[in-house]
Amino acid sequence: MFSHNYTSKIVPRFALSMTKIHNFSAGPSILAGSAFEKSIEDIKNFANTGLSILEISHRSKEFESIMDQANAIVRELMSVPENYDVLFLGGGASTQFFQIPHNFLRTSAAYTKTGVWAAGAIKEAKLYGEVNVIASSEADNYNYVPKDYSIPADADYFHCTSNNTIYGTQMKQFPSSPVPLICDMSSDIFSRPVDTSKFSLIYAGAQKNMGPAGVTLVIVDKAMYDRRASRPIPSMLDYKLHGEKGSMYNTPPVFPILVSLYNLQWVKENGGVAGMEARNNAKAELLYNTIDNNPLFSGTCAVEDRSHMNACFVLNDPNPEMEQKFAAACKEAGISGIKGHRSVGGYRASMYNALPLESVQALVNVMNTFA
Ligand code: PMP
Repeated sequence: MFSHNYTSKIVPRFALSMTKIHNFSAGPSILAGSAFEKSIEDIKNFANTGLSILEISHRSKEFESIMDQANAIVRELMSVPENYDVLFLGGGASTQFFQIPHNFLRTSAAYTKTGVWAAGAIKEAKLYGEVNVIASSEADNYNYVPKDYSIPADADYFHCTSNNTIYGTQMKQFPSSPVPLICDMSSDIFSRPVDTSKFSLIYAGAQKNMGPAGVTLVIVDKAMYDRRASRPIPSMLDYKLHGEKGSMYNTPPVFPILVSLYNLQWVKENGGVAGMEARNNAKAELLYNTIDNNPLFSGTCAVEDRSHMNACFVLNDPNPEMEQKFAAACKEAGISGIKGHRSVGGYRASMYNALPLESVQALVNVMNTFA
């Protein structure tokens, strides 16, 4: 029945390496091992069709079932209210930077500028109308999250970024907003419980806590469809149309949706978002304690705003010799992906959901031995 000459054996993830790789990559980043194993089977023979998931119609009943399950698990994990659409779109979070104002910016919108990604969202919104930057931490290289601001009641919406991936800062609380609250949760979605009903629109590129790159999750209150701007909306930018078509207006990113489903099943099996929060708290506590108590290292951002997803730190007395020695010690221990973003320098350890505590322990051991 099955025509391709694939072997049925799954290649172990770390087969090529003698050392286990501890994957601290900022994104695309670590996913649950079970998501790989299930997806590999579906590449070979999807749902007993004898066809690969990569070569089957997205209109097949087998893929429709995947789409339904993906939709349902997002609703369950995020407690999405009935009157919201859950959409799986293409274009990355960066497309949301302009799709949101295209749909909803009538006159002016309020934004907080908390990092390069927030700045990107602001830049695109300016193409559509007035953008009121009500708070910014740019002057301090985005090393904290501003909290002292008020959201104008006449704004069309308020946009914020829950986790600033590059700088390692995270909103611990969300403001109560007099206008629709819109949030870029690309780098901490599914990492902790949030009250979805407080948000009018949540979006996230998948490639951190959800799945592989190529799909963007949008959770949108259908009441927003009555607040659309009067400008024409091309079909591909129309949330309402995507909602009516069940994310199948065009060919959806089939494979990233499948892998996301399997990764989210792992989240569910491991206690859902509350389980992830406990797991992520333990990892963050271990690493930040080490950063604070180890004489060689310091954190780079305000302690109260420290992200539980991306921890940024520097060597106190950086010099090429020390940096090389630390890099070599990390490599030796199988630590991968901790180089900081070029705009911050130093190190960034990303600890997304699927990263085990054991990997943080491995990094901490290297830091302590190094000291
Ligand atoms: N927002 C945040 C918070 C991000 O971290 C990123 C990139 N990782 C983006 C937006 C842009 O996402 P994409 O590459 O999917 O367009």
